[in-house]
Amino acid sequence: MEIACLDLEGVLVPEIWIAFAEKTGIAELRATTRDIPDYDVLMKQRLRILEENGLKLSDIQEVIATLQPLEGAAEFVNWLRERFQVVILSDTFYEFSQPLMRQLGFPTLLCHKLITDGAGRVVDYQLRQKDPKRQSVIALKSLYYRIIAAGDSYNDTTMLAEAHAGILFHAPDNVIAEFPQFPAVQTFEDLKKEFIKASDRSLSL
Ligand SMILES: [Mg+2]
Repeated sequence: MEIACLDLEGVLVPEIWIAFAEKTGIAELRATTRDIPDYDVLMKQRLRILEENGLKLSDIQEVIATLQPLEGAAEFVNWLRERFQVVILSDTFYEFSQPLMRQLGFPTLLCHKLITDGAGRVVDYQLRQKDPKRQSVIALKSLYYRIIAAGDSYNDTTMLAEAHAGILFHAPDNVIAEFPQFPAVQTFEDLKKEFIKASDRSLSL
């Protein structure tokens, strides 16, 4: 039995914070872990900016609802679900991902959650656990599933290494160079082929 674990942002949907920054014109929200490596510092800054701009969760969700999955992503997820059990492992928040997950047919998603107050303002966030993607793969392996994982960035590499097979998709050159042990592909057609190659069953396109 095999499970396909997929990263969300950069693989199936755009980077949500960057897309949100573009839609709102709040440039400061473009910062990512590449600019501020400490995730807690980065998230605190994001929450402060939301507060300063008077953005409630519902405002944010309205903006995110105008975003779309990457071209071909919904079709790819359908293709994958016919051949594997699919679990999305993401560092996003349920409250943000909802509008995009709807467009992907709500596959299983393990991620984090935001904490809002009575007025709907985002006041804090709760990470599910430390190293969540790798821990999820470990948990699924304990159920005797074979895991094939795909992701695009540094926060995916422990998941890819823990899986029986790991695939880089849409990864930037520096990540591809640093992790030559993983095959790296850029299109959904090639990603399908990598999943077929990595599978221990004889699947067809
Ligand atoms: Mg990603």
